[in-house]
Amino acid sequence: MSIDKKFVYFFGAGASEGTAQMRDLLGGKGANLADMASLGLPVPPGFTITTEACAMYGEIGKEKLFEAIRPQVNAALKRLEEATGKTFGKGPHPLLVSVRSGAAASMPGMMDTILNLGLNDETCQAMIELTGNERFVLDSYRRFIQMFSDVVLHVNFDEFEHALEAAKKAKNVKLDTGLDAADLRKLIAEYKAIVRNATGSDFPSDPMEQLYRGAQAVFDSWDNPRAIRYRQLNDIRGLLGTAVNIQAMVFGNSGNNSATGVAFTRDPSTGDNEFFYGEFLINAQGEDVVAGIRTPQQITIKGSRKWAEAQGVSEEDRKNNYPSLEEAMPECFKQLDAIRIKLENHYKDMQDLEFTIENGKLYMLQTRNGKRTAAAAVKIAIDLVNEKLIDEKTAVLRVEPQQLDQLLHPVFVKSAENKAEKLCIGLPASPGAATGQVVFSAEDAEAWAEAGKKVILCRIETSPEDIGGMHVAQGILTTRGGMTSHAAVVARGMGRCCVAGCGDIEIDYEKRTFVIEGKVVKEGDFISLNGSTGAVYLGEVETVAPELSGPFGDIMKLADKYRKLGVRTNADTPHDTEVAVKFGAEGIGLCRTEHMFFEGDRVKAFRRMILVCERVKRIKEAMDVRSVDELLSKITPSDEGYDDVMQFKSALDTLLPLQRGDFEAMFKALDGRPCIIRFLDPPLHEFLPHDEKGQAEVAAELGTTAEKIRNVVSSLHEMNPMLGHRGCRLGISYPAVTAMQAHAVAEAAAAVKGSKPEIMIPLVGNVKELAAQKAVVLKTIAAVEKEQNVKLDIKIGTMIEVPRAAVTADKIAEEAEFFSFGTNDLTQMGCGFSRDDAGKFLGDYVKWGIYDYDPFQVLDTEGVGELVRIAVGKGRSTRKDITLGICGEHGGEPRTIAFCHEVGLNYVSCSPFRVPIARLAAAQAAIRSAK
Ligand code: ADP
Ligand code: MG
Ligand code: MG
Repeated sequence: MSIDKKFVYFFGAGASEGTAQMRDLLGGKGANLADMASLGLPVPPGFTITTEACAMYGEIGKEKLFEAIRPQVNAALKRLEEATGKTFGKGPHPLLVSVRSGAAASMPGMMDTILNLGLNDETCQAMIELTGNERFVLDSYRRFIQMFSDVVLHVNFDEFEHALEAAKKAKNVKLDTGLDAADLRKLIAEYKAIVRNATGSDFPSDPMEQLYRGAQAVFDSWDNPRAIRYRQLNDIRGLLGTAVNIQAMVFGNSGNNSATGVAFTRDPSTGDNEFFYGEFLINAQGEDVVAGIRTPQQITIKGSRKWAEAQGVSEEDRKNNYPSLEEAMPECFKQLDAIRIKLENHYKDMQDLEFTIENGKLYMLQTRNGKRTAAAAVKIAIDLVNEKLIDEKTAVLRVEPQQLDQLLHPVFVKSAENKAEKLCIGLPASPGAATGQVVFSAEDAEAWAEAGKKVILCRIETSPEDIGGMHVAQGILTTRGGMTSHAAVVARGMGRCCVAGCGDIEIDYEKRTFVIEGKVVKEGDFISLNGSTGAVYLGEVETVAPELSGPFGDIMKLADKYRKLGVRTNADTPHDTEVAVKFGAEGIGLCRTEHMFFEGDRVKAFRRMILVCERVKRIKEAMDVRSVDELLSKITPSDEGYDDVMQFKSALDTLLPLQRGDFEAMFKALDGRPCIIRFLDPPLHEFLPHDEKGQAEVAAELGTTAEKIRNVVSSLHEMNPMLGHRGCRLGISYPAVTAMQAHAVAEAAAAVKGSKPEIMIPLVGNVKELAAQKAVVLKTIAAVEKEQNVKLDIKIGTMIEVPRAAVTADKIAEEAEFFSFGTNDLTQMGCGFSRDDAGKFLGDYVKWGIYDYDPFQVLDTEGVGELVRIAVGKGRSTRKDITLGICGEHGGEPRTIAFCHEVGLNYVSCSPFRVPIARLAAAQAAIRSAK
């Protein structure tokens, strides 16, 4: 990067240098401020220092960077002075500015902002003389000292809060608006003393020094722990850093004809477009609304009445004490409402706005695409198509696939909810139903969740430090703050259920309890939250499956229209299959049969088989026969091992009808959709207990001795089971098991009309393995066909999960009618990472950027993906119409799905709850790659 380039972009006063397209360089805030100013909206002028400067700052350090940008900053400041008619750092019209962070990706509240910068004793006095409003100027000054000291000087914020609280107490007022000029003067003196005490020097009074130190702090805030954590959680990467926006201040705290607020052009919880959603406070500045210190008021009369009703506030009380903006400042409201429509039409998306009213004049301070719940995202996307603001493809791209998860999970059973003991009603800040145990800190939430507990995080108000705990909690409850409070905004972004602002609850962090109307709820007690109504209940409330029609159904239809990839599911039971089909699965991509061996009585039969299988194999070898049937025809009761052979045979005979029943149920649930059945895969010792107690139990169950069980377990023991006797290797050793499974599939197929079974042989690395197993399967199918006088259409294919199979896929395709990429094992063997042991280092690998993502979660497209590419090419070169799919854990992961689309797979297969996510991700991949 060159040091002499344009680092500073002016905006406002009808002459912005930046545009909305420049968000990478100017950050979202800077780009949109420039854009709004160009649209002719009332934006206080200012300038943006680019994200490139932030990156440079990291590279060459502050001295060199500031030296390089100083001429540009000076020029922009001069222009700002001209545009405002004020002067920075001196009277009689002192220019005050805000120094605001803002990266290309929206990270609300994660980085720092300083307001009222440029104040010192001198400019303060000049402002007082100019405005004649001593209280307002001193209020701004004390806010500035507090913010600057926190963000730049790192003085403990609490010290200022304590001083402020003490001042309020001394005056016997509840709100800071109750402090007069004299109180504020005293407070400012105390603030300065706090700074001197903590830092050993005076609060910096030189405005230029304030400006650069402020800018530096904003740059630094890019790498503060909570910003880093936020980027991790939201997978924001590849950005240069934050821009710094220096903007002329406007004052919402200059009296009762002033206000500040935030608003959404549509309801960010539900997506409704019923009225203009937002909150404001009279005589307040910046973050007051979000901080939840005072109860904010609503923008529209309609919204205000709705709020009052939910809060149990009478119309009388509402009108007098909490009037809407529409009532309190009708002119400004009208103007803001017109801007709302203008901005939505311009950005073609729901906007999240910040505004301030100074002495009756409206200013716009920010607009961005608003964070929203999944329900809102889906509804807004569909509504915008219907309103002809966006086309279908854009709508499909507007919904984050992962977010859909929120819509697939349960809500409260109505009757159970009606019966539940309601503790109180707060604000419905983020929808959904949550039940869990009460904890009072983010750390406890993380620790309890780690221990497998479901928790509800209860806080007076959350702060950005709490996001880790919020992330693991089932739900979040706060006692302070509105719909735009930190808790509400962050919870909606995460899709976490949240009830905010339950003012009647009193939390005692020390005692780890909260009290509501005399009732005490302790840490560890269960409560339930309804994030859609704001209700808080004592105890656990039962939940039900969600609604899948409406806008959700519409967006899924659009996804199906544009996707090229098929979407199947990984399911082993009829119930899971039904769920998946309801979610839109077009078949089963992976039915693991071993799960069927674990259930109930069958594990007994299977264990009986395992106990003798090695002996039977030796007898077969000794008698030089190839199959158990052949063995049975030769062996007589007087032969040694006769009992074992009979036990082996009878165990398989027991399993056959059970397996057949399983498959029939699956085929019925699938109703004509295809079903890939993977034959036995895990090593046999997994079916036997490894502990003494378990072994004794199994021995009793099977009528044998614990010692016998122990001996079998130790003879099945493997040094490296994942590379051991499993997959088709078992089938090669025990073809009778393969034959039994094929038999069950064939009979079930004959019994269920329209069924489409496909048999998948696992862990093939060499085509001869597949050929051998295929021969067993074909022979069995032929026998069933003959016996039942039917013609069966059963495809036979393999999993591609051993690297050798991938690179010899042309050979394998001679035998296989389909491939399914088993990317769990393919990653394990391709990267050489044991899935069971990689936890020790993979976290660091990702942290250090050795791998961009955990390759077991997001397919390593460079390495493992290359194996897939090779296999796709080679497979198709042998068999043009071969069906290709993926059934690993990765099959429901949007990035991997995009890769699967790119390499031309026919379908992806994933767990039932990920099916809608996969449908949408597949559509997005198709739309993006066509662009
Ligand atoms: P965040 O990253 O938290 O959105 P912002 O830079 O938007 O931080 O600023 C925090 C608050 O200060 C917002 O409410 C914003 O509207 C207010 N604010 C920022 N700049 C100004 C300004 N020039 N005049 C008045 N208020 C401002
Ligand atoms: Mg903001
Ligand atoms: Mg496997």
